[in-house]
Amino acid sequence: MMLLERYKKFLPITENTPMVTLHEGNTPLIRARNIEEYLELKDVQIYLKFEGMNPTGSFKDRGMVMAIAKAVEKGAKCTICASTGNTAASAAAYSARVGMQSVVLIPEGKIALGKLAQAVIYGAKVVQIKGNFDRCLEIVKELSENYPFELVNSLNPFRLEGQKTAAFEIVDVLGRAPDYHFIPVGNAGNITAYWMGYTQYHREGISPNLPKMMGFQAEGAAPIVRGRKIENPETVATAIRIGNPASWEKAVRARDESGGVIDTVTDEEILNAQRLIASLEGIFCEPASAASVAGIFKYRKIFRRGDIVVATLTGHGLKDPNVILKSVKEPVVVEPSVDDVLEAIGWK
Ligand SMILES: *Cc1c(COP(=O)(O)O)cnc(C)c1O
Repeated sequence: MMLLERYKKFLPITENTPMVTLHEGNTPLIRARNIEEYLELKDVQIYLKFEGMNPTGSFKDRGMVMAIAKAVEKGAKCTICASTGNTAASAAAYSARVGMQSVVLIPEGKIALGKLAQAVIYGAKVVQIKGNFDRCLEIVKELSENYPFELVNSLNPFRLEGQKTAAFEIVDVLGRAPDYHFIPVGNAGNITAYWMGYTQYHREGISPNLPKMMGFQAEGAAPIVRGRKIENPETVATAIRIGNPASWEKAVRARDESGGVIDTVTDEEILNAQRLIASLEGIFCEPASAASVAGIFKYRKIFRRGDIVVATLTGHGLKDPNVILKSVKEPVVVEPSVDDVLEAIGWK
């Protein structure tokens, strides 16, 4: 069932809210037995919530479907957002779906190729800014205050409402919340949204427990961990290349109320985790997504027998192929003969 319909009674939906959908949500929760084994964990279950399976390839679709439905309800004609890529792709797709124009501001040269292609093909007006994401966000805030553009960044409260449904789905599958939830942190909306979802299900008596929220920022873009804004954030994980998160305080509250942590992982740890998720489990996520699993590797010692651990893989790896091809060697080229192929693969 479509997301807004399925979780209607937990969402800010009225009789005037259109049931917009591209069949977002209902993403797979995949048991990662090979990673469990690799980490030599006994009786600890690790699950990957693969949000790359959403219509535009990231979790942003959960929040966007809600934000766009409310924008339609309100009679908005044009959406606007700042984006490191995935918000732009999602805003452009859902705006197209309901016949609205979308405008997206992106940091020049710092967005994965696949995401840019998505925003363009869905028909967004795309503007590159000579500045980072944080500057883009400041500008769209000002534009949405002074012009009839509907802001669909996660400052829009409907975004987080939609995104919390990922936590609902996890509890619906496991019958409880996990003991730990690992998640990348960029603008810090998603960690906030998951905590909203888990606490709501707990209050409703649907989940008997609450998880510890384990958030991970890239070492070069870790304002929450450092306790100060980062002027020039840098990381290979462009989706979390953010120096002044919009949901900073809310994320800190989620961390503290849940008894979790927000910590850093290095770019090397991120790329290593991305490769292992692919080569051990057959799941290709983008670099930012792998920060969650890099966090599991870093915190492997804290798990106890019987623990259930969930990591969100926020987006699809196909969005950012360049990062892979930069770090691996091109495949060898040989003459078209059986012998040469066997030799090339080390079979003889
Ligand atoms: C947006 C995004 C993030 C960061 O989520 P926040 O809500 O900004 O913390 C992480 N990974 C991917 C793939 C994203 O698109």
